[in-house]
Amino acid sequence: MPEGDTVHRAARRLNEVLAGREVTRCDIRVPAFATADLSGHRVHEVVAVGKHLLMRVGGTTVHSHLKMEGSWHVYRPGSRWRRPAFEARMVLDVGPTPGDTGAEGDGTPDPGWQAVGFALGELELVPTRDEDSIVGRLGPDPLGERFDRDEALRRLTADPGRPIGLALLDQHTVAGLGNDYRNEVLFLRGVLPETPIGQTDAAAVLDLAVRLIRANRDRVERVTTGDTRRGRRLWVAHRENEPCRRCGTRIRMGHLGDDALTERQTFVCPSCQR
Ligand SMILES: [Zn+2]
Repeated sequence: MPEGDTVHRAARRLNEVLAGREVTRCDIRVPAFATADLSGHRVHEVVAVGKHLLMRVGGTTVHSHLKMEGSWHVYRPGSRWRRPAFEARMVLDVGPTPGDTGAEGDGTPDPGWQAVGFALGELELVPTRDEDSIVGRLGPDPLGERFDRDEALRRLTADPGRPIGLALLDQHTVAGLGNDYRNEVLFLRGVLPETPIGQTDAAAVLDLAVRLIRANRDRVERVTTGDTRRGRRLWVAHRENEPCRRCGTRIRMGHLGDDALTERQTFVCPSCQR
C-alpha cells in the first residue's frame, strides 16, 4: 500500500520528467474538474508532502492522494499503459524541454512525456497559494527536506493516553507513515498497538519509524527486515497466522482505529509484543 516512501518516489520521478516543460494536453477524468485545462502552462515542480502529491502547474496545484490502489505512471507518448484505461483519472502530456535539440543523443528531438494517474483516491485542483488548506496541518514529514523531529515527538506525545498504534498513523502527528510502518515499528520495539503512548518509549518508536521509512526512500519494495528476498521483507505486516521470524509464535491480526473509517489491520506477535 502506498505510504510516504512510495509517494515521495513517485513525486521525484514525475518531477524528473515534467518539471520545466509545458503541458500540451490535459485530460482530467473526475467530474468536478473535467473541464479544467492546464494546457499551455508550465510544470514548475512535483513534490510530496507526507502521502500527498502536489503537482504545481502555472498557478494551479494538482493535488492527488494514492490511497489504497492509486499510482502515477510515466510514459513516452504513444506507449502502451501498464494499467487499464478505465482506471485513469488524469492524463498529462508535456512537450520537450525548451531549447532541447536531441536529448536522445542521436539528434532526435525529445518527444516529451505523458504522466497518467491511475485509481487515485483523491484528485483536485486548487490555486497553489491555497496549498496550505490541504497540507498545512500535517505533521513533520521524515522524508521532507526539513524534518522537525522535536515537533513530531511533541505531537506524538501530546495525548499520553492515546494508543501508540493510532498516534503513529495520524498524519497530523507524523506525515507519511502508514500501516506497514506502524506494524513493523511496534513489533521491533516489542510494543502492542493498543498501548497508551505514555507507557512507551515514544522517542525510540519515533526514531525507529523515521529510520525505517528513510531506509526505504529509494527502494521499490518496502523492507524492514534487511532481507530483500520476496516473502522475507517484513516482520509481521500481512503475515497473519505465519510464524514470527524471531520466536515462531503465530502472527495475530487485529483491527485498530478511531472509528470505522480510520480502522486498519494490525499485525502483532503476541510473544514478542507485550
Ligand atoms: Zn515473536
